[in-house]
Amino acid sequence: MLKIENLHVKLQEEDKQILKGVNLEVGAGQVHAIMGPNGSGKSTLSYVLSGRDGYEVTEGAAHLGDLDLLGMEPEERAAAGLFLAFQYPVEIPGVSNMIFLRTAVNAQRKARGEAELSAAEFLKEVRIRAKTLNIDADMLKRPVNVGFSGGEKKRNEILQMAMLEPRMCILDETDSGLDVDAMKLVAEGVNALRSEGRSFLVITHYQRLLDHIRPDVVHIMADGRIIKTGGPDLALEVENNGYADILAEVA
Ligand code: ADP
Ligand code: MG
Ligand code: MG
Repeated sequence: MLKIENLHVKLQEEDKQILKGVNLEVGAGQVHAIMGPNGSGKSTLSYVLSGRDGYEVTEGAAHLGDLDLLGMEPEERAAAGLFLAFQYPVEIPGVSNMIFLRTAVNAQRKARGEAELSAAEFLKEVRIRAKTLNIDADMLKRPVNVGFSGGEKKRNEILQMAMLEPRMCILDETDSGLDVDAMKLVAEGVNALRSEGRSFLVITHYQRLLDHIRPDVVHIMADGRIIKTGGPDLALEVENNGYADILAEVA
């Protein structure tokens, strides 16, 4: 599903190399977790994959299926099925959540050559998905994320994810600052959306989230590289011993 090869990335404005040869392959239907100390380049990796400005790829490649991701515009990547859930969802005063989401869904349908959904069709669809995910659809009447609690913002992102039907979902520290209940909610959302044709890359600081989302593979990232890969037990090892042992072992 996602194949990253020897990815090197520097900041555009500064001569600062952030990713120093990332290799990562996520199979269809798999859930991979990336953990790692602060500043190791986890967010940079997700930004570069989604096509955010400010970064320069100096070497390497990233493919979504057969598609050369790095050669595509951000909206083309989204239309191709890439979804990035942000660490801090943006508030958009004055824009109704309903209109925002319908616009996003229809832009994507259009890019895929599918018919756009009418307001009524969209509402029907959104109600069905909200119900399956245990989300109160009333949230859609409010302006995007304005005054939403941490938990509501996360619910909203899960609902966006469900409506956009991505095949590759990247969640960047979606759990930071969340209480246990909100974290469970994110995990339940991810688990409900898990399927054979959909893969996840979950970036997290906490083993706790991985208790609820059981990943197939866990990677540890440090200083711009993936330094260790293992099963779910690797997350437990980090929880118990921190990163020091792994860093020392690799050094
Ligand atoms: P992580 O998500 O693992 O905490 P980041 O990808 O946010 O790591 O950051 C990796 C490194 O790149 C850090 O040292 C960070 O300070 C630096 N960095 C990332 N983006 C920028 C930027 N726009 N300007 C300056 N430094 C940046
Ligand atoms: Mg960070
Ligand atoms: Mg980060």
